[in-house]
Amino acid sequence: MKIYVDYDDCLCETARSFSEIAVEMFDKHVPYEQIKYFELNKSFDLDDDQYERFMKRGHEPEVLLSYEETPGASKTINEWISNGHEVSIITGRPFSAYEPSRQWLDEHGLKDVKLYCLNKYGRDSFIKNSDFSLELEDYYKMEFDFAVEDSYKAFKFFEHLPDLKVLVFDRPWNRECVFPNGNYTRCMDWDSIRKILL
Ligand SMILES: [Mg+2]
Repeated sequence: MKIYVDYDDCLCETARSFSEIAVEMFDKHVPYEQIKYFELNKSFDLDDDQYERFMKRGHEPEVLLSYEETPGASKTINEWISNGHEVSIITGRPFSAYEPSRQWLDEHGLKDVKLYCLNKYGRDSFIKNSDFSLELEDYYKMEFDFAVEDSYKAFKFFEHLPDLKVLVFDRPWNRECVFPNGNYTRCMDWDSIRKILL
C-alpha cells in the first residue's frame, strides 16, 4: 500500500505547542481542547501581524524539534514499512522547515520515510513567500491507498483519488467538519489507525 501521512497533529503534537507559544508571546490562553478552528489566527484571535510572528516562532528549528510525538505514530509507521508499505510524509510546512523536520523524523525512528513539503494551505494562510519542495503537478502524479490527515483544509488534495481511504485523526478543530464521502473514517489515535491498516 502507498500511504500519505500528514505531519503536524498526526505525527506530533503541534497544536499543543502552539497553545503554549500563544501564552508566552501574547498572553492568550486557549487550551488544546478549545482550538476549534484549523486556522490558528481564528482559534487564538490573532491579528495579521501577531499571526505572522506566531507562525514564524512555531517554525523555528528549536521549536520544531521540541514537538512531542503523538503516541504510537512512529511504532505504527515502522510496522507499515516492515510490512512492505510505502509511507510518504506530506506536510504543509514550508521548505525552510525541511531540515529540522527531517531531523525530528530521524530522531523519532522514522529514517525510512520520505518527507515532502507541499503548499497545502495557500500563500495567505502561512508564512509568506515560502518555497515548497513538492509542486502540485508532481503531487497529483503520486498515488495513495490510505491517507492520515487532521485538516479539513487538506481534503481537497484527495478528490482525484476516488478509492483513497482517508483516516481523519481526531482533533478539536475537525470534530464538526462534514466528511466529503464514505471513504473518510474518524480515528481517535494511532492504535485505532493500526487496527484498520497493518
Ligand atoms: Mg496536520
